Formats: sequence, C-alpha cells, structure tokens
Amino acid sequence: MTPEQDFVMRTIESRDIHFVRFWFTDVLGNMKSFAVSPSELAGAFSEGMGFDGSCISGFGVVEESDMLAFPDASTFQVLPWRPSSNAVARMFCSIRLPEGSAFEGDPRQVLQRMVSRASSLGYVFNVGPELEHYYFRDASGTEVLDRGGYFDLTSLDSGSDLRRDTVLNVENMGIPVEYSHHETGPSQHEIDLRYTDALSMADAVMTYKLVVKEVARSHGVYASFMPKPLEGHPGSGMHVHQSLFSMEGENLFFDPSDALGYRLSDLAKSYIAGLLRYAPEFSLVTNQYVNSYKRLAAGAEAPAYLSWGKNNRSTLVRIPGYRPDSSSACRVELRSPDAAANPYLAFSAMLAAGLAGIEEGLRLPDPIESTNLFAHSHRTLRSKGLEPLPLNLGEAIERFEASQLMRDTLGPYIHQYLVDEKTREWDEYQRHVSRWELDTYLEVL
Ligand code: GLN
Ligand code: MG
Ligand code: MG
Ligand code: MG
Repeated sequence: MTPEQDFVMRTIESRDIHFVRFWFTDVLGNMKSFAVSPSELAGAFSEGMGFDGSCISGFGVVEESDMLAFPDASTFQVLPWRPSSNAVARMFCSIRLPEGSAFEGDPRQVLQRMVSRASSLGYVFNVGPELEHYYFRDASGTEVLDRGGYFDLTSLDSGSDLRRDTVLNVENMGIPVEYSHHETGPSQHEIDLRYTDALSMADAVMTYKLVVKEVARSHGVYASFMPKPLEGHPGSGMHVHQSLFSMEGENLFFDPSDALGYRLSDLAKSYIAGLLRYAPEFSLVTNQYVNSYKRLAAGAEAPAYLSWGKNNRSTLVRIPGYRPDSSSACRVELRSPDAAANPYLAFSAMLAAGLAGIEEGLRLPDPIESTNLFAHSHRTLRSKGLEPLPLNLGEAIERFEASQLMRDTLGPYIHQYLVDEKTREWDEYQRHVSRWELDTYLEVL
C-alpha cells in the first residue's frame, strides 16, 4: 500500500466513515458514482472494484461491459454536506478493463495523458475556470429567484446565502475559491476557483458543480449549468484562464520585455495562435450541445470570432490586465467554453491546441483592441477577414470529425463516440418543429 492509501485507511477509522463513493465521469462529463464499504477498500486499491459499464453512455456495449474502477488515493475527501457520523467520503477513479488496460472512454485518463505529454516537454499546465450558473425555482421551468444584476448586493440577491453555503462547502473539500458574485442575468451567479494544475482543477470542477446542485437542493431550489437557459439574457460560460509554468514554478507566458507591450513571451503567443487555429476543431468539446451555440450566437460577452485582444471581452482570447507586473498573474483567458463542457476533455483539447501552436511555430494575427465585435454584422466582420467559430452543433461536428489533432488527443474511441452521439442529437434537433416556427409561419403561410 502507498503512503497515500495508508492515510486513507487511517482517516476512514478516525473520521467514522461508513461509505466511500467512487467517482468518475462518462464521456460527456456526467458524474457517475457507486458506494463501497470501507472493508472493500484495501482490495479496491490493489485489484480495483468491478462494475457493469453497459448503462453508462460511452462506456461500451453489453457484451463487453465488465470494468474496474481504481480509486486515486490522492483525491480522498470527506463530503462536508453529509452527516459527520457514518460519514461519506469520495475518491476519483480511473477505469480499466478486466485484462488491465486503461479504458479508452475514460475522460480523466485522457487529461492525465495530455498533462504528462506537457510535462515531458517541461511544462505544467495551470488553469483557473470561471463557472457561471442560474438558480431556478425548480427543474421543471425557468422561474428565476431574483432580478439582480452584475455584482449586485441587495435584498434582490436571494442567491447570497446559496453562494455562501456553496463556497464554504467547496472550501471544506480543499478547493480554494477566489471570487463569487452575482452575474448579469437574473439569479445568475459565478464562482471562480483559484488556479492550479489541470488535473486537480478538472476534479475540482466536477466537485464544484455537484456542490452547487446539492446546496441548491438543500435550499429547495434548482441550479443549472445549461449554456443558454433564458432567451434575452446571458448564457453561462466557463472562461478558462491558462498558462504554462516550468517544473520549477516559473510562469513561461510572462515576458516584461515583449515588443508588443503585452508582457507575453513568444511561447505564450504561439500558444494563443494555436488556440485560435484549432478552436473550430475543439468547439465540439468546449461547446458540446445544441444549446451551446445559442449562447455563442447571442453576443452577451460570449465570443463568436477567432480573435484575441487585451481586455476586449468580445474576443475569443483575452489577455487580462489586472496585475501587469506580476509574473504569476500572467495568463490568457479562453472565453468560448461553456459551463456544461466536460472539464477533463475541455482542458485536454485546449492544451493540445496550444501545444500544437508552439510546435508548429504559429504566428499570432493582429489583436482586436478598439473594436467591439458584438457591434458589427457578420458580413462586416467576415469582410475584414475574421473567421467565425462553428455557428451550430452541425458545423462543430464537421470540423471535429475532420480534426486529426482531436482524434490524436482524445483517442479514436472518444473521437468516434462524440461524432456518433452528437450527430444523433443534431439530427433529432433538426427534425424538431419549434414554437418559434409555428408563431412565425403558421398564420402567414
Ligand atoms: N456570461 C458570459 C458568457 O456567457 C460571460 C460574462 C462575463 O463573465 N463577463 O461567457
Ligand atoms: Mg468573472
Ligand atoms: Mg462571468
Ligand atoms: Mg472572465
């Protein structure tokens, strides 16, 4: 047994833990879980716990569905919102097949693979996400709890208590929170996690989303990370701040002598160029639902064009300028991902794009500084040579399916699964006749 596994066994004794939940995600990033008794744990560490994967989307067919979950002792945490006697703890798992090989449909192992590729090149990939969500009265509709707006702190903000409880629970699970505030939409909120390495962060995002939903439930309301739940109000994004550090902890994106005046190293510039070049190909990963493209289509500070700039919130990549002289604060912010993305695959895809930019020595196009892209028509922007992100799920599938980079990054299994699954969703949506069509056409045609 490793020292970490040993620590888990001792904590289970001392904290009166009766259930150990094994956590993992399906390909789309839905959390899956089963509970194991403490007496099974020693065996689970060495031989894994068997389960039937056939009911989990992307986890294979009925004929070959026996799988093993191996818990990662370094992710052991007690769930603070559960009772303290007969307590409940959790560990994230990696999924293997009975013959011992890694299961190719396990998103966490995709990110582990990408992160070790980065580390073999001498890079630590750090990310800091800003997750937005809405609260609704219940899951059956979109009745909001307040009419508050950006940063509002008034009695209108009935989400204050919900946010407070959420932040406390997240922090009790060892996840530091940097900011929390009311967002622009009515009963829309944001909580920003302090940056850390991508694998810990993807685990933290999964934990965070569960806590938001659990806390909402305990207050009798419903929390949703749907990308665009309300027409006419902003969608819920997951902006991802990112940077490459050296193994020694030096921020490789920072260069105070940058001739462009952005304090960005050449490495950072090629990385951004990679994000811009490959964003259409990874869009299916960062924006994986029909509804994701309604957020991107509506402006409302969600980007639609392959563009970058300092402090321009209409561009796809923004260079935040809060503390320009601080090397640790130097990073780039990718603004297209939404709150419903699978964080393991989304972080993998953006890292792959950035690294490809570095390897291919891609050059950055000119920044967009003085133009608010939301204020111009598609025709104008295209005539200026700006290329759009995919306009809908169908276009995103096409770009993703043809992408060698995405196939190599996610592996052929997940790549094909996403193409099939998303094509099914897109076909179904295209056959749907909506309320809007009836209202617009029925009476006049
Ligand atoms: N809600 C916006 C989005 O969809 C972001 C708003 C903001 O954080 N400035 O990305
Ligand atoms: Mg923010
Ligand atoms: Mg925000
Ligand atoms: Mg942001």
